[in-house]
Amino acid sequence: TPDGSDGLNPSPDENDGKLRPTRLDEMVGQRDVIERLKIAIGAAMRRSEPLGHVLFDGPPGLGKTTFATVIPAEMGTTIQMANGAGLSAPKDLLPYLTNVSSHSVLFIDEIHRVPKAVEEYLYTAMEDYRIDIVLGEGVNARTLNFELQPFTLIGATTRAGMLSAPLRDRFQIREHLGWYSENQLTDLVLRNAKKLSIEVEQAAAAEIARRSRSTPRLANNRLHWVRDYAQVRAKGIVTIGVARDALDMIGIDRLGLDKQDRNYLETLIRVFAGGPSGLEAIAHTMNVSSDTLEDEVEPFLLRSELIVRTRRGRIATTKAFEHLKMQPPLNS
Ligand code: ADP
Repeated sequence: TPDGSDGLNPSPDENDGKLRPTRLDEMVGQRDVIERLKIAIGAAMRRSEPLGHVLFDGPPGLGKTTFATVIPAEMGTTIQMANGAGLSAPKDLLPYLTNVSSHSVLFIDEIHRVPKAVEEYLYTAMEDYRIDIVLGEGVNARTLNFELQPFTLIGATTRAGMLSAPLRDRFQIREHLGWYSENQLTDLVLRNAKKLSIEVEQAAAAEIARRSRSTPRLANNRLHWVRDYAQVRAKGIVTIGVARDALDMIGIDRLGLDKQDRNYLETLIRVFAGGPSGLEAIAHTMNVSSDTLEDEVEPFLLRSELIVRTRRGRIATTKAFEHLKMQPPLNS
C-alpha cells in the first residue's frame, strides 16, 4: 500500500487524527527542515507573497503529508489535496487549479506519478500562475488562457529520482525527510500516549520506538496496538514487558521488522540462496508489487544493512542470515 501500511491496521492513519501535529512546533525531529521552513514562511508572509513551491521527498510515513498540512495552518491559508495517481489527464488538474485561492496550498502526493502530458501544465501554473489549454484540433484549435491565483504547490514523493529535471527545478524549496532517531520516536510515543490518555513507562516507550523502523507512522500504529493490548491484558499500564508481549504477538520483531519484511529476507535467502536476485523476481515470488517492495520494504532493510543493492541484484548480508537464524553460505 502506498500509505506505508504494515498490515497492522486496515487503514494506518485511521485513528491518527488526534495524533497528527497541526503546528510546526508540535512536530518531533526534522529540526533543520523546520527551521528553514519557518524562515521561508516568515519571509513570504512579510512580503505578502505566496510561499515558494515546496517538494518533500523520503520514504513513506516520515511526515511529508504532515508538513504539507502544517504549512498552510502556519500561514493561515487553505489546502487542497490531490494525488499524482489521480491526475491522469490535463483536465483532472483543472478543478484544483481553478479552485486555488490567493496564497493557498495545492498538495500533490505521489507527484512522481503525474504523467508527462499533465506535468507540462504544471510548469506554467507554477511559474506564471497561468494555464493555456488547447481546445479542438487542427484549424479549429484554439487556446484558452486561464489566469490563476498566486498559490503554493507542495509536492511529495517517495521517488525523487523519478521526477523530471524541469519539474524538480520549479520547486524553490526542496527538502529530504530522513529517518527518525530512537530518542525522537521515544519522545513521540510519550507525547502521543498523553494524547491517548494511556500510561506508558519510559522504557516501554523506548521499546516501541526501537521496533518502529525509524518511522513516526509505525510508532503511532504500534502505540495504538500496545494500548489495546494493555487495556485488555494489563490494566492499562504499559510496562516494557507489556510492550514486548504486545509487539511479539503481532509479529514485530526486535529490529522492528514485520512479517512482510521477514518474508522478503526469507525469500531472498531460501529461494535465491541469498542473492544476487532481481527485484522483480523477489516480488513475483512473494506475490506483491515491486513498487511496494521498493518503497516500503527495501529502504529500511538497506538502511539496517540487512540487504545490499548491487548491479546484479539484491544480496542478503550476513546480518540478515544471523537475524533469521539461518546459515550463511560458506563462500560468502
Ligand atoms: P508521509 O506523508 O511521509 O507518508 P505522514 O505525514 O502521513 O507521512 O506521517 C504519518 C503519520 O506520522 C502522521 O499522521 C503523523 O501523525 C505522524 N508523523 C509524521 N511525522 C511526524 C513528526 N515529525 N512529528 C510528529 N508526528 C509525525
